[in-house]
Amino acid sequence: RSAPERLDAFWMPFTANRQFKQHSRLLASARDMHYTTVDGRQVLDGVAGLWCCNAGHGRTRIIEAVSRQIATLDFAPTFQMGHPLPFVLAERLAAIAPDPLKHVFFTNSGSESVDTALKIALAYHRARGEGQRTRLIGREKGYHGVGFGGMSVGGMVNNRKFFGPMLPGVDHLRHTLDISRNAFSRGLPKHGAELADDLERLVQLHDASTIAAVIVEPVSGSAGVVLPPEGYLKRLREICDKHGILLIFDEVITGYGRVGNAFAAQRFGVTPDMITTAKGLTNGSVPMGAVFVSNAIHDAFMQGPEGVIDLFHGYTYSGHPLACAAALATLDTYAEEKLFDKALDIGAFWEESIHALRDLPHVIDIRNFGLIGAIELAPREGKPGSRAFDVFTKCFHDKDLLIRTTGDVVALSPPLILDKSHIGQIFGRLAEAIRETA
Ligand code: PMP
Repeated sequence: RSAPERLDAFWMPFTANRQFKQHSRLLASARDMHYTTVDGRQVLDGVAGLWCCNAGHGRTRIIEAVSRQIATLDFAPTFQMGHPLPFVLAERLAAIAPDPLKHVFFTNSGSESVDTALKIALAYHRARGEGQRTRLIGREKGYHGVGFGGMSVGGMVNNRKFFGPMLPGVDHLRHTLDISRNAFSRGLPKHGAELADDLERLVQLHDASTIAAVIVEPVSGSAGVVLPPEGYLKRLREICDKHGILLIFDEVITGYGRVGNAFAAQRFGVTPDMITTAKGLTNGSVPMGAVFVSNAIHDAFMQGPEGVIDLFHGYTYSGHPLACAAALATLDTYAEEKLFDKALDIGAFWEESIHALRDLPHVIDIRNFGLIGAIELAPREGKPGSRAFDVFTKCFHDKDLLIRTTGDVVALSPPLILDKSHIGQIFGRLAEAIRETA
């Protein structure tokens, strides 16, 4: 395919090329619930940018905090030195994290948070004299970013297949979605918790004493918005506890209010040993990630395998002053506007509105949880591309609505500031687009 066609299919800014400067999908500015394109169209944001901008766009408090910070302290070296903001931010994050995850390691993205968590898991076991625990377990169709750790534990085929070899000693739990059993069920699927027992299969296969950690997204986004069946995460926790395996929740998309609590761990009532986050931490403004770990893991990791501080980990930009300023202003905004509660309050209307689309052509499932939504369309035979991608382009170009598509699924994750009229507009425009592309 030619480069413009590839751009149409994927739009990857890292391939940016002068010839695309006037492409009509370039975004020039953003405020609250809308983007403005370079050709002046106002586009309603149904996906918070990319699951990031939970407080909407162009928030004054964040703009001012970052502006003040760059004028005061633009950068501070990470090693041997520091500045006060990461400590202030760590306190604030500890206050919203579930017990006992009261320590944070700062990163610059979701991928880095995942790789950091996997490294911490390995070092933790070594520090406890269990250095044989090196195996990592992800899940089929999981997405954990593009670093070698995240790619290896991830299970999205296109994300992996050209980039091997992957990390050795990685295995994957079976995928948990069974549409035929759960089609159009609202909220979490009622069936399927027993799929977590697949972890016992891997424990038998590999021997529990070789397994360091299991990583899963509580709700996976990139696989097409896959919701855990009721009890699934709890069963995983029980099996991990039984065998001394660490459980990591990748909350890069679910973190910071999207499902009605600060973290999905709290909403599901299951506490992992680590939580990886990014995106909503700074409302998508300055890149930043954070890994939450328990006191025990923090202490073992920092002490190092031999009982002396001789391990090295950290990024030049860990705890960057601008990112910290952005994160603090973001957390203030979330708290002041009670946005996490709002995701729950408006959730019932969201659920009604999305399920009203069930009789549209080719719709084979609808899923919702918190302010997350997915509409799955029947796969199209004999023609390249998916229906969902056609719906995405129709929405963007003809309906001034930004959605996301992954495989045959239309995914939605609007800013938490939205009101009922925005929900009406999102589903009204989306319904038209689905009808017109049928
Ligand atoms: N984990 C999950 C669950 C994600 O959804 C993503 C990104 N969509 C990542 C990790 C990677 O984050 P980033 O793109 O910031 O590296």
